Amino acid sequence: APTPQRPHVVLLPTPGMGHLIPLVELAKLLVAHHGFSVTIVTLDASSASKAQDALFSSLPDSISSLALPSVPLDDLPSDARIETIISVAASRSLAHLRDALSGLKSSANLVALVVDLFGTDYFTVALELCLPRYLFFPSNLLTLSLIFHLPELDATTTCEYRDLPEPLRLPGCVPIPGRDLLHPIQDRSNDAYRWVVHHARRYREAEGILVNSFDAIEPEAAKVLREPEPGRPPVYLVGPLTQCWNPKATDERAECLRWLDQQPPGSVLFVSFGSGGTLTTAQTAELALGLELSGQRFLWVVRSPSDGENASEAYFSVRSKNDPFGFLPAGFVQRTREVGLLVPSWAPQVAVLNHAATGGFLSHCGWNSTLESVVAGVAMVAWPLFAEQRQNAVMLAEGARIALRPRGAAEGGLVPREEVARAVRELMEGEEGKAARQRVAELRKAATSGLEEGGAAYKALAEVASKWKTTN
Ligand code: UDP
Repeated sequence: APTPQRPHVVLLPTPGMGHLIPLVELAKLLVAHHGFSVTIVTLDASSASKAQDALFSSLPDSISSLALPSVPLDDLPSDARIETIISVAASRSLAHLRDALSGLKSSANLVALVVDLFGTDYFTVALELCLPRYLFFPSNLLTLSLIFHLPELDATTTCEYRDLPEPLRLPGCVPIPGRDLLHPIQDRSNDAYRWVVHHARRYREAEGILVNSFDAIEPEAAKVLREPEPGRPPVYLVGPLTQCWNPKATDERAECLRWLDQQPPGSVLFVSFGSGGTLTTAQTAELALGLELSGQRFLWVVRSPSDGENASEAYFSVRSKNDPFGFLPAGFVQRTREVGLLVPSWAPQVAVLNHAATGGFLSHCGWNSTLESVVAGVAMVAWPLFAEQRQNAVMLAEGARIALRPRGAAEGGLVPREEVARAVRELMEGEEGKAARQRVAELRKAATSGLEEGGAAYKALAEVASKWKTTN
């Protein structure tokens, strides 16, 4: 609970575990290193997942959570995209946020409001209450650079971005083919696109942007964005902020960890697509047969396939329906029982990545997963699905060079089993895999030392913290 003396910050994440997790880590650092207390404000208690409840109940006293009352969204078209839903929910929650912040202002020494990704409309309330407005960007500098550039790109481009004749060259970033750019900007006639451009414009209203990245993983972009630029908020590289791995908290789920204990060091490929990613039925089958064909050991977090347009369908619910394995190819479970373990829906990812038996990560390239892999020193096979994952995959394969890309995934088509097997074998046993592991070991070192007292990320957060402390 807030105490009157401590500086108090409100963090307001966009719904979704992938957004909540790094903000919770930010909260912990503000409390532990800089003497703050924190309230994490979420939208609508009714959509909270089990995972979210567990996360909140593990927090120290100086971090509280507060759910805003729900707002009606039933007038939105049934095919409204997630970015639209989240943005509309935010814009309709301003009065609730005003009430909550006013309440906190009277009981705590409130010094800043920190929103994330699609929360820029909350700035309106912060302005009314004379509260400094900050933004936490849970992805990388490549994506932030794209956001900064988007209003101009919108004004100067007539075609869909996937049809751009040349890759997009953002300052200090690897060139990104148009089709690999951020998923929600790929259909410019969709409301989701308008919302993303809207937020991109409002990013400039932030007094500072904290980014969950670090120099070594994208050094050129870091150089560019560290330089002050008129009209652009200062950028603070405070990452990598990743979920702490608490061995005690993972006890109840330890079956897969116990299985890992039985496997040789560095021998297991961890396969997971984040908190909500699902594959089509056909792709799930090819992946299964490809893993089998690779002859490698694997630990696969399996979700029911979804054949709809939107691969992020399972986003708000981390539970798979019905029999989680019923859709796998006939005999697959039986044939791979000696080398593979299937875990339905959710695994203690950070613990798995840090287990000595884990030697590779086939990942959807969500930014949290990527950072967790880096911090654990695990090289990746990139299998992007939605959001900014395709451009992350390009950056990880061609910039940071810590990921291998199966052919087919890049084109957005079906990745055949032979290609799955080739990429997996190359990662686990080939020269490219070896080189990626060396690079990831270097990044791991840089990440760790940046977070230590006196390191770059530590200093960046200290700078922001001292600004907040002197506001009032
Ligand atoms: N995660 C996990 N177990 C799972 C799937 C996901 O612990 O089975 C965690 C993962 O460690 C990461 C987050 O959920 O911290 C996923 O975030 P990311 O940005 O990688 O992807 P998103 O879920 O946003 O697509």
